[in-house]
Amino acid sequence: MEKIISLCKRRGFVFPGSEIYGGLAGTWDYGPLGSELKFNLKDEWWKTIVRDREDVVGISAAILMNPKVWEASGHLTAGFADLLVECKKCKKRFRADHIDKKCPECGGNLTEPKKFNLMMKTFVGAVEDETTTTYLRGEITQGVHVNFKNVLNSSRLKIPFGIAQIGKAFRNEITPGNFTYRSREFEQMELQFYVKPEKKEGKKWFEYWKSQRINWYKNLGMKKENLRFRQHETDEKAHYARDAWDIEYNTPFGGWKEMEGIHDRGDWDLSQHTKYSKQDLSYFDEETKEKYIPWVIETSGGVDRATLFFLIDAYTEDGDRVVLKLHPKLAPYKAAVFPLLANKPDLVNKARKIYDDLKKDFVTAWDDRGNIGKRYYSQDEIGTPYCITIDFESLENETVTIRDRDTAKQERVDTKKLGDILKKKIND
Ligand code: ATP
Repeated sequence: MEKIISLCKRRGFVFPGSEIYGGLAGTWDYGPLGSELKFNLKDEWWKTIVRDREDVVGISAAILMNPKVWEASGHLTAGFADLLVECKKCKKRFRADHIDKKCPECGGNLTEPKKFNLMMKTFVGAVEDETTTTYLRGEITQGVHVNFKNVLNSSRLKIPFGIAQIGKAFRNEITPGNFTYRSREFEQMELQFYVKPEKKEGKKWFEYWKSQRINWYKNLGMKKENLRFRQHETDEKAHYARDAWDIEYNTPFGGWKEMEGIHDRGDWDLSQHTKYSKQDLSYFDEETKEKYIPWVIETSGGVDRATLFFLIDAYTEDGDRVVLKLHPKLAPYKAAVFPLLANKPDLVNKARKIYDDLKKDFVTAWDDRGNIGKRYYSQDEIGTPYCITIDFESLENETVTIRDRDTAKQERVDTKKLGDILKKKIND
């Protein structure tokens, strides 16, 4: 983990939040490469869940919502709270379910556990009084459910269908830690899939989404031995969940950890919002003439956790060489272009032209420093799958070499075909 955290900082993937002021616990800033990686991950998710399908649409709801939403959803009551214990000696606070009987810092005795709500309070408007108190959303889910009718009335969707969203969520976690794994500000990617309220139908879609979601990670190259499903115990389930399975990743910091949850939320959300908003949020089935509140199958993944686990999964050492074997679709740069020598204008001009061309279609890096071997190593470390070198032969016959990150093998290709070749390699 230390090596990965240091690579993230050194090469510009992830920095501690507000670092020059000593940081702010539980916040992280993504640097130039981390932002590209995270964008790619979200893009792939949006493509698979929304754009490639006919039965799912996407929305982007506001982070700030009417506080009644959180009353209805159960987030202001015991439902969205962790048990907190405090060390009587050093006064540090911990999540009761994360530690044993004594303080892990100083061995002191702990207080009795008490409920600690995770919602972050804020004030909307100029007067800081009760009427303007609201919360930063603790999950992105409710933005979807409160728009159920809006989406239904503005589209031609019929049940079963889904609404997807990606966005920030905030939780006042008692003990943030393990790098970005548990943060106080993080991003989620979620699908709320509405189905007919029948046991068989619910079960069918639950199983369907479980397998879709784990396959998504595998298709993007995550090693299958590092992935598993785990069903929640009865006392572990969230207040809304009737059945819950986590996709877990085998981490170097304490083994299996949750990356994404697949939840059967039943009719909890729409029933609660019907009750609190006094609006009719039921669905009318034109064919069967039935009116009902649909059930919801949810897939809820953490963008930051998935980003971190893809980085961990990709991190490879080969002697003193570090290779980040990210799937080309996720890699921050798809290609890097090098003139063999930086002091030969013919080579540099030709390489520049190729670089300018590629940049239109691919995120491409340019490097003309040091020797070629060093440039390869530098790109390997940030996961660039293909390095293109323009050498003296390129000047004679319009060819370049492509070097593959994972095999270190080189092939010589026609410059005119370069774009097509790269496209094929990335998408295969
Ligand atoms: P945990 O048990 O780890 O606190 P959770 O069960 O409360 O997580 P959910 O409410 O199911 O998590 O949220 C869905 C997803 O959002 C999680 O699978 C995770 O990927 C992500 N997530 C939740 N809390 C955090 C956090 N504090 N930091 C980063 N990602 C988070």
